[in-house]
Amino acid sequence: MQLEIQGLSKTYPNGVEALVDVTLTVPTGMFGLLGPNGAGKSTLMRTVATLQDADRGSVTFGDLDVLRQHQEVRQILGYLPQEFGVYPKVSAVAMLDHIATLKGITQRRERREVVGALLQRVNLYQHRKKALSGFSGGMKQRFGIAQALLGKPQLLIVDEPTAGLDPGERNRFYNLLAEIGEHVVVILSTHIVQDVKELCTQMAIIHEGRVLQQGMPQDAEDELAGKVWRKSIDKGELETYRERFQILSTKLVAGRPLIHVFHESDPQDGFHAVQPDLEDVFFSKIMQVA
Ligand code: ADP
Repeated sequence: MQLEIQGLSKTYPNGVEALVDVTLTVPTGMFGLLGPNGAGKSTLMRTVATLQDADRGSVTFGDLDVLRQHQEVRQILGYLPQEFGVYPKVSAVAMLDHIATLKGITQRRERREVVGALLQRVNLYQHRKKALSGFSGGMKQRFGIAQALLGKPQLLIVDEPTAGLDPGERNRFYNLLAEIGEHVVVILSTHIVQDVKELCTQMAIIHEGRVLQQGMPQDAEDELAGKVWRKSIDKGELETYRERFQILSTKLVAGRPLIHVFHESDPQDGFHAVQPDLEDVFFSKIMQVA
């Protein structure tokens, strides 16, 4: 089963072109939709999740026409929105039980089994009786995944799930997603390059509503080979380098800026070749349209 997005466009009433002729093929596995804030990721996620309409284009999932067959799509969809409003003072188990009822699991015994298994799976079983309001950011996200997985979705959409998680929580969340991605189509929207690097077999880079790159992260890195160069410079030199080079990134290493620049050939001048990583890919793509 795969998700096919063809020529999808959306302009908001205020004139913002949030999606411009977006075409993507999303196969089974983890698909990373990488883009800076405002790129159009949530608009795309909400459209695929049947929560808002597009102006033009088509979205199909197997035989389903996603833009028209809303009810059918919702049967096979799991969605973790960017802002998941969890209810304070309700326990995790009670909340999941309630959502399970809404999703049509009417038998109490079945619900108990399904909810228990999900809580185990997201490693919250020992916290099941605690109020959601007391959950940490990571626990809330894992709860969010549990609710999205109710009803065994074939298509799972997670919008910016790792923002605000500490490194340990992020890792636990990665492991959980990686496991799920073995069986279903998972679209992970994020502005965090590391999310895609660690998890995704396929990805797209989106910026200002347009798809700038699509394919395997490794291929995108290989494409850039020989064109990324690094140099450690003095803080005071940064502006001069900005004028002379296309700087992809600036990081402080031991208090000194380490810059990565995009250059078709060796810029000389003390630069060293770098094996490009996904962050270089991301910034080089975005820079090219800036
Ligand atoms: P992302 O999820 O990548 O941050 P969004 O899809 O939220 O991007 O937003 C894409 C663009 O559309 C942004 O410029 C945003 O300000 C604009 N936008 C999003 N939602 C609306 C809306 N309901 N009305 C008007 N503009 C919107």
